[in-house]
Amino acid sequence: MATTSRSGRHGSDDEESTPAMRRLRRLSLHLLQPAPEGGGSLGPAACAGKRRAGGLDADAAALTAYLRGRHRKMQARVYEFYVARPELQTPVELPMAAHRDLCFRQMAALVREAGVRPLSLMAADPAEYFAVMEAVGGVDISLAIKVGVQYSLWGGSVINLGTKKHKEKYFDKIDNLEYPGCFAMTELHHGSNVQALQTTATFDPVTDEFIIDTPNDGAIKWWIGNAALHGKFATVFARLILPLQGKGGEPADMGIHAFIVPIRDLETHAVLPGIEINDCGHKIGLNGVDNGALRFRSVRIPRDNLLNRFGDVARDGKYTSSLPTINRRFAATLGELVGGRVGLAYSSVGVLKVAVTIAVRYALLRQQFGPPKEPEISVLDYQSHQHKLMPMLASAYAFHFARAYLVDMYSEMKKTNDEDVTADVHVLSSGLKSYITSYTAKSISICRESCGGHGYAAVNRFGGLRNDHDIFQTFEGDNTVLLQQVAGDLLKQYQQKFKGGTLSVTWNYLRDSMGTYLSQPNPVTARWEGEDHLRDPKFQLDAFRYRTSRLLHSVAARLQKHMKTLGGFGAWNRCLNHLLTLAESHIESVILARFIEAVKSCPDEKTREVLKLVCDLYALERIWKDIGTYRNVDYVAPNKAKAIHKLVDYLSYQVRLVARELVDAFDVPDQIIRAPIGMQSEAYAQYTQGVGFYRQPT
Ligand SMILES: Cc1cc2nc3c(=O)[nH]c(=O)nc-3n(C[C@H](O)[C@H](O)[C@H](O)COP(=O)(O)OP(=O)(O)OC[C@H]3O[C@@H](n4cnc5c(N)ncnc54)[C@H](O)[C@@H]3O)c2cc1C
Repeated sequence: MATTSRSGRHGSDDEESTPAMRRLRRLSLHLLQPAPEGGGSLGPAACAGKRRAGGLDADAAALTAYLRGRHRKMQARVYEFYVARPELQTPVELPMAAHRDLCFRQMAALVREAGVRPLSLMAADPAEYFAVMEAVGGVDISLAIKVGVQYSLWGGSVINLGTKKHKEKYFDKIDNLEYPGCFAMTELHHGSNVQALQTTATFDPVTDEFIIDTPNDGAIKWWIGNAALHGKFATVFARLILPLQGKGGEPADMGIHAFIVPIRDLETHAVLPGIEINDCGHKIGLNGVDNGALRFRSVRIPRDNLLNRFGDVARDGKYTSSLPTINRRFAATLGELVGGRVGLAYSSVGVLKVAVTIAVRYALLRQQFGPPKEPEISVLDYQSHQHKLMPMLASAYAFHFARAYLVDMYSEMKKTNDEDVTADVHVLSSGLKSYITSYTAKSISICRESCGGHGYAAVNRFGGLRNDHDIFQTFEGDNTVLLQQVAGDLLKQYQQKFKGGTLSVTWNYLRDSMGTYLSQPNPVTARWEGEDHLRDPKFQLDAFRYRTSRLLHSVAARLQKHMKTLGGFGAWNRCLNHLLTLAESHIESVILARFIEAVKSCPDEKTREVLKLVCDLYALERIWKDIGTYRNVDYVAPNKAKAIHKLVDYLSYQVRLVARELVDAFDVPDQIIRAPIGMQSEAYAQYTQGVGFYRQPT
């Protein structure tokens, strides 16, 4: 009689009892893995050992060398420092007050004992600064955010929005942590809409000071990191008001500017007069960071405390700026703050690597079910598990190279101040930050689920990672808002193209795309289904770019149509989902282009082949996910869609064969991974000992 086991397999006891049937079933377990369209036997690869995929050798050390490049030394230094200091490691359970205290001590030790000077690094070598951010995020995500508030936000605002006098006065003391500070932009009523902030900074020509005021409770500065406990200063974003200089002698509102406001006494740490600070309280995550709310009542600061790079007020109250309009000054001000966004995109990739590493190692270790009367198999040998985790592992690689590109562009921007590069970095950082942080947030939940019940133990970290990382989607610009900036820029480029203008670097591909991609899809290539064709980077990149170009073209037409009846704002809102899809599609094109480039540039042949496999999975899985779009316009015929689907399953299986090496190559030490189920060896033993069982003698 046929039976159904818990795994859902159907079989007959009689059949399974014969040795021939057992062999057949074991064989079928290999052969059931999908074969790629156009040939390619799985047999030899499957039997050749777990370090081989389709005849490829994966060497974790060689992969690490290529991935980590010149930052390996610095990251190792940070890891080793914390690993050697157990009292600086964050325990699984920690009350908020103790966590905040620990987080400050972790940061202070990094600066004062390990000798890492983040602000100096940021100024001299931004790529190394971001590598430090990733490493401290491995120690505790709260620590990465605390460091980010102190250096990217507070320090970054002073060096990027201030001038020489500010650097001379503050740089060293911010760097050595003598001046812990905050970045006070968000208000209770306004977060994303920065131009609507209400805090005022009114110039007093008599005393040569600015007076900082919170005009109503909606303007209380809210969520300000470092404010509840540790900050001594804040960069406060406020409307600069010049009395009597507006029309008819009214006060003139010069728009949002940044001011350095001391908030606590340097000696006693008491909150200064006129300032009220309250604690934003316990959060869903990141409880090592002390977020506070600030209200100002006629707080006076010297005129010199205006961060005056883009606009200044003279002793006689006269306003000067090299930029002619409020909008241009606002854009320049915000443009200088992209470092925080770059840092979040960078750190988010680090979080994804940790989550994927734990999930993959556990999936290799964990065995459930198997052929009748045979040993159980690793859960990573289930096709469904490969489907959950292997594209995610491929994405972690893809994002790794994309963020390296972003950091290179950012470094170039800082070096050259080139306008085109600056515009590119602004859009690229918005797009990558949104895309990567949203992807990582979803992936952490999938990793938790793929580890079953043990994924739910706090010690195995997914809860902490998920809660701490979740807000990455919101701060430094809400992802939905940031993606609209990407879409807006694409449309601007599109219009420029039709006006005969030039396109900036990131959008170069659109130049060709207008002609090539918008013509009718080729009915012959739409049917090509051979593995060589599907794994050709040109096919993959063309497919991504075709989709972006179509989306761009169609949304531009829709906007134009709706503009007539709904006006600009209404038309934009009517097309908003379309615009967000466009932005994501463009960012995926950029990510793939960087991955293909990284594969091509890899000097070691074997490593290059492994990366090519991972890159193919990344590209084809994305195409498969959006196959409806491609089918709708006959870019892909039914036979080709089927071949892509099969190949994605096959490549997932191939990547599974080298999955251990691929996660080992991230090179995150066990003491940083910390989850017992994600250890490189003896995971179960570490887990049982962690809850109090004695180790059994062997
Ligand atoms: C833990 C934490 C730490 C923080 N640290 C700091 C800090 O140190 N300094 C600081 O200044 N701020 C800080 N913030 C504030 C943070 O930057 C803001 O929360 C963020 O900018 C989003 O603003 P908001 O909360 O007002 O969201 P809102 O803008 O009100 O967004 C709410 C929702 O509306 C949607 N939405 C808004 N506008 C649009 C639109 N145009 N189109 C479509 N949808 C839209 C968003 O997608 C979102 O889902 C922090 C916040 C948190 C939670």
